Amino acid sequence: MKFICIGRNYAAHAKELNNAVPDSPVLFLKPDTALLQNNTDFYIPEFSQNIHFECEVIFRVERQGKYITKEFALSYLNGVGLGIDFTARDLQDIQKAKGLPWDIAKGFNHSAAVSEFAPLSNFPNLNDINFSLFINGEQRQKSNTSNMLFPIENIIEYSSQFFMVKAGDIFFTGTPEGVGQVKQGDHLEAFLENKKVLDFYIR
Ligand code: MG
Repeated sequence: MKFICIGRNYAAHAKELNNAVPDSPVLFLKPDTALLQNNTDFYIPEFSQNIHFECEVIFRVERQGKYITKEFALSYLNGVGLGIDFTARDLQDIQKAKGLPWDIAKGFNHSAAVSEFAPLSNFPNLNDINFSLFINGEQRQKSNTSNMLFPIENIIEYSSQFFMVKAGDIFFTGTPEGVGQVKQGDHLEAFLENKKVLDFYIR
């Protein structure tokens, strides 16, 4: 499987990192080795001094497809959850300054923490889902999928031209404002509507 991720999908987050608001989705991939699940602890890697959390709504793919139009996009999904797109911001800043790909800053081992998945039918409108992230009991990120510049249907339509989706692939739909650094011992808890779906520690 692979992770298909969107950058800069919330205008307020693009601005907080001094990035332009994009006019088409900013895509990047993470390999299957990025997967971190079952609320397993995240270990800060030795190659970064500035790992950031980015809490994002995630969607799991049910079946293979390419050139999927947005009208049919939701029929390719079978789960919604929350993820943390862990980012080595120091490495990303260096790569961005050199005009180089972000892969090492975004796709390193265990950089994609994912929750369990709930059926799409639990949510009357996928473009109106509240979510939030607390660290050590303090709310750090809170938003609603209605704030996404590109809704999930558009993300699937755009990305499936380049990257065929296969069963088990996971979309990361971008993070809202409020990103910041994680430190050893931090306790991350994330809520999809009122349900806690992520609960783990930084080591
Ligand atoms: Mg992200």
